[in-house]
Amino acid sequence: MRSFANAMDVFRLLEKTNCRKCNEKTCLAFASKVFLGQKTLDLCPFINQEILGQYQEQQSKTNGIETEFTLFDLKNEIKKCNLELSAKRVGGIFSNDRLTIKIFGKPFSIASNGKMFSDIHINSFIAAPILEYVLHCKGVPLTNKWISFRELQGGQEMNGLFVKTSEEPLKKIADRYPSLFEDLMVIFNGKKIENGYESDISLVLYPLPRLPIRISYWKPEDGMSSDLRIFFDSSADMNAKLNVVYRLSAGIVRMFEKISKKHGIPESVVA
Ligand code: SF4
Repeated sequence: MRSFANAMDVFRLLEKTNCRKCNEKTCLAFASKVFLGQKTLDLCPFINQEILGQYQEQQSKTNGIETEFTLFDLKNEIKKCNLELSAKRVGGIFSNDRLTIKIFGKPFSIASNGKMFSDIHINSFIAAPILEYVLHCKGVPLTNKWISFRELQGGQEMNGLFVKTSEEPLKKIADRYPSLFEDLMVIFNGKKIENGYESDISLVLYPLPRLPIRISYWKPEDGMSSDLRIFFDSSADMNAKLNVVYRLSAGIVRMFEKISKKHGIPESVVA
């Protein structure tokens, strides 16, 4: 069985004609949704049976965005990891057989047997990157220098997908409900930056101790359309694999989307 390491793996299998027979506007959008578990590969009629056979087992295991299988694997790796020694490296503390780190400023604990404890709702899309962060974070101090996803090591190749799954959907929410967008940042304990890059709204979120994310939004003005950009500390690609940064960002956007829907934003706006 073969598996997708990222959405580019899916994209490479496609015709790249943007014919829309899969009901997506582009092959890139389709690839992204297949990787995220929102669509199955067989919805593109141009994928041959041999290729489908190689991937269908993985597809059948897909549940939402991250598979339970992946989480199971990661928990097993956590069991082999010395969480006490890892605490400083990942920016957490260790006590009572649990490593505790702050996720959006709130405690999130992992026991030596891989079990996770938190007051905040963590979906599987967020849980898997958190565990990968604990396993692979190098403990590099923050530089406080903000860079784009494209500038991270390997970011150039995945930047199109990052824009589609993170920046564009977030901008849609901000365009329609800018005040709600600010409220959402408050819910996630974001810190507002005054005059951040001369944007109208600029906030920093702390989804992981050594992986802050800055979101800057420019409102539409004088015929100019709005803009939204997501930035990372320049140490991000040393403290997390690019794939983790990508999935974490997309996972956060998904959480925003769900909250937005609860606030009554039509699905067509946030989908
Ligand atoms: S049906 Fe296949 S080739 Fe056509 S747009 Fe969708 S993914 Fe691309």
